[in-house]
Amino acid sequence: MMRLDVARLKRSPGDSARYDLAADLPPLDISGEIIAFVGPVKAVLAVSNTGEVIEVEGTADGKLELSCSRCLKRFIYDFQAPVDEKYSLAQDGGNEEIPSVTGDFIDIAPAVLNSIYLALPMKAVCVEGCQGLCPVCGRNLNEGRCGCAAEDIDPRMSVLKELLKKDDN
Ligand SMILES: [Zn+2]
Ligand SMILES: [Zn+2]
Repeated sequence: MMRLDVARLKRSPGDSARYDLAADLPPLDISGEIIAFVGPVKAVLAVSNTGEVIEVEGTADGKLELSCSRCLKRFIYDFQAPVDEKYSLAQDGGNEEIPSVTGDFIDIAPAVLNSIYLALPMKAVCVEGCQGLCPVCGRNLNEGRCGCAAEDIDPRMSVLKELLKKDDN
């Protein structure tokens, strides 16, 4: 849970405040792949009361454990994600697209998790220029060459081979 204490701010339209937060957040579930945070997620946020909404803007950063899309090795990825969210101060629940402020605290974890999710690269690599796996024998080419003849093989085959290799073990 990552909470903003807005007890005072929600009663003073026009005011703003800066928040430095750190919290342990649950892992991201990206189409069934569980991606865990390494250490707390930090957020530096400017929070303002516009009279109608509490506006939250800033950045969240931290570390995630990802799998390299080329060599499949796990590595630590430093992320920084922009956070931009609004929470309605309307008493009647107001606009359905904007969550409302119901008490003295706003749980901003859902908004922060969503922005981290959006900031993730589609294909993360462990290092720039990762050599990936040999499509023939599945060897991690960052650890040395394998001697296979370089051929044009459907890259999907390497994933298949890797899966078959795991089954053998
Ligand atoms: Zn890699
Ligand atoms: Zn090979």
